[in-house]
Amino acid sequence: MTVQRSRPLIVGNWKMNLDEPAARTLVGALLTILPFDRVDAAVAPSFPCLRAVLDAVTGSPLAVAAQNMHSEAKGAFTGEVAPPVLFNMGVRFVIIGHSERRALFGENDAMVSRKVVAARRHGLAPIVCVGENEAQRDAGQTCDVVVGQVRAALADGALESPGDLVVAYEPVWAIGTGRTPDPAEVTGAHAAIREALTERFGTPGIEVRILYGGSVTPANVPVLLQAPEVDGALVGGASLDPGSFALIAAAAAAC
Ligand code: PEP
Repeated sequence: MTVQRSRPLIVGNWKMNLDEPAARTLVGALLTILPFDRVDAAVAPSFPCLRAVLDAVTGSPLAVAAQNMHSEAKGAFTGEVAPPVLFNMGVRFVIIGHSERRALFGENDAMVSRKVVAARRHGLAPIVCVGENEAQRDAGQTCDVVVGQVRAALADGALESPGDLVVAYEPVWAIGTGRTPDPAEVTGAHAAIREALTERFGTPGIEVRILYGGSVTPANVPVLLQAPEVDGALVGGASLDPGSFALIAAAAAAC
């Protein structure tokens, strides 16, 4: 897989859905219908399904992402998963700081920052999720919130270059709700994130892919991905249906 902004990146976050047979079936379908000549694509199964999905995608352009990981390489962290284990299995990306982890599992900016550094150290491409909640949106704080989260996630000086970092703008109020921001809101948030990335990394910050996520469907993806600085999508619900995910990928390729 190439990492470059000229190709959109579409990532399917399966969350805590699908058992192993269902994961295998979905991947089998995706391998035949995703437009790999025009998009980079990855799927993020739950941990127990990683082995089956990695085996199924062997030799194909479909990459595999983890939905989370710990920041330490090993140790007494019951129930956690270590970055080098994921890397050695063949996992390529890891989603970090998803709003569900922040809201439901107490993940904070400091933990996100440690995980980003750990992902890079162990060869995984971090997909860092940022986004405002509804109250912050209503208060006109979207750009301040996302810029603050990006700065905090990338605060560690050990991170000298962006490498294959990906940022996903996911308004919390849009995730799983069927509601989406209007194009001006997407444009504003992505521009603010881009500015934070170039402020942090200089010119290489221009190469970081910024994905939009939150209730993406085949119907709304052309509008959402048309905004400047949108380099692909992080897709939850619609990624569980191969036809919908393929339509989203095809629309992204056409944007
Ligand atoms: C997500 O949880 O990352 C997500 C984008 O979910 P959905 O597409 O279902 O809103």
